[in-house]
Amino acid sequence: MEYQSTRGGASGLSAAEAILKGLAADKGLFVPDAIPTLSAEDFEFLGDCNYLDAAKLIFELYLDDFSLDEIDECVNGAYLGSFDSAAVAPLVSLDEQTRVLELWHGPTSAFKDMALQALPRLLTTSMKLTGEKREVVILVATSGDTGKAALEGFKDVPGTSIVVLYPSEGVSAVQKQQMVTQEGGNVHVLAIEGNFDDAQSAAKSIFMDQGAAERLSARGKRLSSANSINWGRLLPQIVYYVNTCAKLMADGSLKAGETVDFSVPTGNFGNILACYYAKQMGAPIGRLICASNANNVLTEFLRTGVYDRNRPFHKTLSPSMDILVSSNLERLLFELSGHDAAFVADCMKQLDETGRYEVPTAIHAQLSDLFYADFSDDEETQGCISETWNRHHYLVDTHTAVACRALENYRLATGSRSLAVVASTASPYKFPCGVYAALCGETACAGLSEYEVQRALSQYTSVPIPEPLADLEQKPVLHNRLCTKQAIAAAVESVIG
Ligand SMILES: *Cc1c(COP(=O)(O)O)cnc(C)c1O
Repeated sequence: MEYQSTRGGASGLSAAEAILKGLAADKGLFVPDAIPTLSAEDFEFLGDCNYLDAAKLIFELYLDDFSLDEIDECVNGAYLGSFDSAAVAPLVSLDEQTRVLELWHGPTSAFKDMALQALPRLLTTSMKLTGEKREVVILVATSGDTGKAALEGFKDVPGTSIVVLYPSEGVSAVQKQQMVTQEGGNVHVLAIEGNFDDAQSAAKSIFMDQGAAERLSARGKRLSSANSINWGRLLPQIVYYVNTCAKLMADGSLKAGETVDFSVPTGNFGNILACYYAKQMGAPIGRLICASNANNVLTEFLRTGVYDRNRPFHKTLSPSMDILVSSNLERLLFELSGHDAAFVADCMKQLDETGRYEVPTAIHAQLSDLFYADFSDDEETQGCISETWNRHHYLVDTHTAVACRALENYRLATGSRSLAVVASTASPYKFPCGVYAALCGETACAGLSEYEVQRALSQYTSVPIPEPLADLEQKPVLHNRLCTKQAIAAAVESVIG
């Protein structure tokens, strides 16, 4: 299996090279030359194997430069013992036709763990395979969830260290506490005076600084990112879609010739793109329902074929989906255009220069066949949280609720009676205020700390708080460094040591 850039500037790379590089030199994203397909025997095996064996089977198809032992090590390191469910990603039934795929049983209670528990192992194996001897220093600027999930993924992984920059005023109390209490011998957490953009631009300028790269290299280190465009983050996400389909076939929920629809709360388009890959591999998937919040640039794109980021940015109750440029969409354009790298490069150039591009009718027609797109604002989202609780006694977080609402609208619009799965991307206790207010009224959270809201929500619903969040308040603070904007670069170099 060889990998190439979506913009045509690189080809013939091994999986290890693609994962180690992350982004191609022409700024394109790495994609496999061809999408492997699964046989009927594969699906039979997947129907009753555990999650780890499912991951091994899928990884083997895409990582043919890794040995079977290396794949075993990556998968065991990622999923053995770090998830609080034996199923890793359990499937919960709401009614006859509706399931919820819970992707938040990892160490940070959000779906980023599914990929970020695997990425560090894929990266260190890639270093070994390509002869990279330097230690990899991961630098992440975060607005919340990614930073913590990356810290948990990379903590104490030999050959790596990680530095996370977060805006001191830009994350929730729980998110901040999750990061400043992070354990591990190779982790560094720095608060930045300013907002997320300040943290992000500081990280970018460090990545671009040739002098810093040379000083690090002289000390046997190289910088890398844990960005969601890395192939090593996308691949682990394909596993749970294929695995879910196989389990639904095995338990008779899905009969021969039937398909299952997936509704996915979407931001950077990574999670739903993994679902597309699973479908192309032969999983019996029908429609992909792309659910957005008030930042509905994807809804408009999938409905009209016009991508236009020139619009106001909304801060919503589902902050992990507050995104106007969904990077992974580039990989879909590459596939739907029949691997036309020049076309992709041109779209991305237009996006860069004007903030807008339009795809030809033939591609728009494919988008309409594959996807249904919908969005909901905060009020509709909260309405869906309380409806889901009242109807099914099932508690969803603000992101998952956006996908539940989109599924409902899809069924209303199309009359579909097909089996459908909602991808659930966070524990309701990760974003407790939006959830508690949805159930008990806008003023219910007034005057309460986030921890108090978590406890009140748990008392009201009898749904337990996941362990990684339950003991958070008591944990000792291990990282309390605060930098001014000017001091960030020097602080990063000094903590790397
Ligand atoms: C990251 C994230 C999303 C969006 O996933 P993408 O792969 O970026 O589309 C949705 N929900 C939660 C809770 C997330 O953390």
